[in-house]
Amino acid sequence: MWTARHSEELRRGITIRIGYADASFYECPSCEPPSNYSTSPVCPNCGSKTKLLRRVSFVDCPGHHSLMVTMLSGAALMDGALFVISSNVKCPQAQDREHLLAAEMVGLQRLVMVQNKIDVVDQARARQNYEEILNFTKNTVAERAPVIPVSAQHKLNMDALICAIQEKIPTPERNHQLAPRMSVLRSFDVNKPGTLVEDLTGGVVGGSVVQGVFQNGEEVEIRPGIKTEDSNRAKYDPLLARVARLEAGGGEVKEAAPGGLIAMGTDLDPSVTKSDGLVGNVVGKAGTLPPTLEKVSLDVDLFEKAVGTEQLVPVQKIRMNEPLVLNAGTAVTSGVVVSARENIADVALRKPICSEPGSKVALSRRIGESWRLIGFGTLR
Ligand code: ZN
Repeated sequence: MWTARHSEELRRGITIRIGYADASFYECPSCEPPSNYSTSPVCPNCGSKTKLLRRVSFVDCPGHHSLMVTMLSGAALMDGALFVISSNVKCPQAQDREHLLAAEMVGLQRLVMVQNKIDVVDQARARQNYEEILNFTKNTVAERAPVIPVSAQHKLNMDALICAIQEKIPTPERNHQLAPRMSVLRSFDVNKPGTLVEDLTGGVVGGSVVQGVFQNGEEVEIRPGIKTEDSNRAKYDPLLARVARLEAGGGEVKEAAPGGLIAMGTDLDPSVTKSDGLVGNVVGKAGTLPPTLEKVSLDVDLFEKAVGTEQLVPVQKIRMNEPLVLNAGTAVTSGVVVSARENIADVALRKPICSEPGSKVALSRRIGESWRLIGFGTLR
């Protein structure tokens, strides 16, 4: 599936726009592994009826910076990663190192190395590239990751790739008892102009469930919520709403759990949700969300070099009074450092966030003309 479809975000590079490309894995009862694996309900080898193993969502966050921010901010739940390398360029490229580092930092340990484009190189180069990949992953989190040569364009070796994903990235046990939590990625008013008041459909929010299970009909809370003017400074009040409809994987469902994108219809005034008005908010079961924070205290982990800078600008320590951009889940906010100690920084936020201790925040600093990712913080 072609996934680069958010050119505006690519240009601005700081907001998170996640898409998901979904796939289903099937197993043939008659064929031997790995050729028993396919994405088809009928075996492409022998024509047998295959068995559905599981559905998988591939997180699509276009752009180098956006991928890193998405991983570091916890905006999407990821159980593992496919690390895709082109056979026709030398490995590692600068961003290969950064991506592997980011995977390591967020604790993403289930990795499969995908050696793509083997159709455009000769056998000698394919073998050399394979050695490059092994050298690159030595002493890293990917050291024991399988390396699967493929041609995505010609769909070569996809069965072996699915086999490796099945073995290396199994579906983890999820605790469905946890209070449900969703980060809002999009929000809409789905009513056509001129709709009569009594026919209006409530506001819709979309995003990814990061834990727990949402039920149709239950009461939810949305934080930080909407802005209310309190004398001269902005204040945010949480919203309460009832779930009127849940959609996942293109159809209506009774409950929504982690994996892929969901849309949640509510009884909210649609003027609140229109034009992505609630992006960056967190949705949870009423009364279970962490408090809204106007100031955060962070344990800071900085990169050696700022991400995506051409001259690989070294990252200096965080300074008092410097402005930073923070991504927490799908929220993006700016703030000023009000205290900077050894690896701990307190940041006063312009717009509050709803996050709990231990959650991750991606940190960007202004370097030259743009905001560059310099590391991440863990909420104290
Ligand atoms: Zn078969």
